[in-house]
Amino acid sequence: MDPVAPGAVRELIARHGFRIKKSLGQNFLIDGNIIKKIIAAVAPSPADTVVEIGPGIGALTGALAAQAGQVLAVEIDRRLIPVLEETMAGINNVCIVQADALKTDFDSLVQSRAGTPVPTYKVAANLPYYITTPLLMHLLEKQTCVGSIVVMVQEEVARRLTAQPATPEYGALTVAVNFYARPEMLFRVPRTVFMPRPEVDSAVVKIEVNRLPAAPVQDKEVFFALVRAAFQQRRKTLLNAVSAVDKRLSKEMWTDVFRQADIAPGRRGETLDLVEFARLADAYVNRREKSKIN
Ligand code: SAM
Repeated sequence: MDPVAPGAVRELIARHGFRIKKSLGQNFLIDGNIIKKIIAAVAPSPADTVVEIGPGIGALTGALAAQAGQVLAVEIDRRLIPVLEETMAGINNVCIVQADALKTDFDSLVQSRAGTPVPTYKVAANLPYYITTPLLMHLLEKQTCVGSIVVMVQEEVARRLTAQPATPEYGALTVAVNFYARPEMLFRVPRTVFMPRPEVDSAVVKIEVNRLPAAPVQDKEVFFALVRAAFQQRRKTLLNAVSAVDKRLSKEMWTDVFRQADIAPGRRGETLDLVEFARLADAYVNRREKSKIN
C-alpha cells in the first residue's frame, strides 16, 4: 500500500476504523516529492540509526527505512500501531514504539534496541505544532547522542529558529536552539500537501547539533535565566529586565556586571547575540561570587 496516495490513505484509515485526532496534530503527508526532499535532508545511510518522532501512518517511515540501517518510530497514539504494523509489514529494519516522545529517553531507547553501541543517531519528525518547542529542548538539552534533527515545523517557528538578532522573530527559542546547534531553514511546505489540511504553511529545518557549545558558559542555568528574562520584557532595557533575576545584587552591582561584560546596559535584549548573552551570564556569575552571594 502507498501510505501517501490520498485514496489509499482514506481506505487504510477507514478499514482500521481510525478517526483523525486534531489534538494530536494528526496531519498526514500526502506528497511524494516533499517526502523525497525530507529524506534527502536526513540523508540516512546504512550505518545510521534514525529516530522518527510521530510516524503517523508511515509516510516517512518506509522511505527512511529504505536508506537507513534502522529506524525507531515513536508514536504516541495507540490506535495507529496496528495501522503502522500494516504499512511497515515486511520491512524488517523498522521498530515501532508506542510512547510519548516528550517523556522518552531517546539515548537509552536507541542503545537498548541496537545490538552494538550507537555513538550518534539522526532524528526526523513532522511534528505536531504544540510539541515543537518542548520536544526540541528535550532533544537538545537532555539527549547527548543526537547528531542532527530534520524537522517540519510551522513556517513561523522555522523563522524563529533561524532568526538574526534585532528582528521581530528573534527570541528565547532562537538563542536556546542556537546555543546547542546550528539550525538552517531548508524549504517551505504548503498546507495543501497534508490530509487533513492544517491552517498554516510549514517549513523543513535541519538542525546540526554542535559537538562543542557555540558559546561556552560557566553556568547554563544562569545563561538561560538571563535569556528568558531579557525576552520576557522585550520593551525594558536589558539592565531592568535581567536585574530582576537576582534582586540581591544592587543596581550598581548589575551595572558593574554589564561593564565587565562590555555590554551597554541600555540595550534591548533582542539585540544581543549568543556570545554576548554568554558574556553577560559569566560576568554575573563572577560578580555573584565576588559578592559571596550564592
Ligand atoms: N509523520 C507522519 C506524516 O508525516 O504523515 C505524521 C505527522 S503528524 C503531523 C504528527 C504525528 O505525531 C501524529 O501521528 C501524532 O499522533 C504524533 N504525535 C503527537 N504527539 C506525539 C508525542 N507526544 N509523541 C509521539 N508522537 C506524537
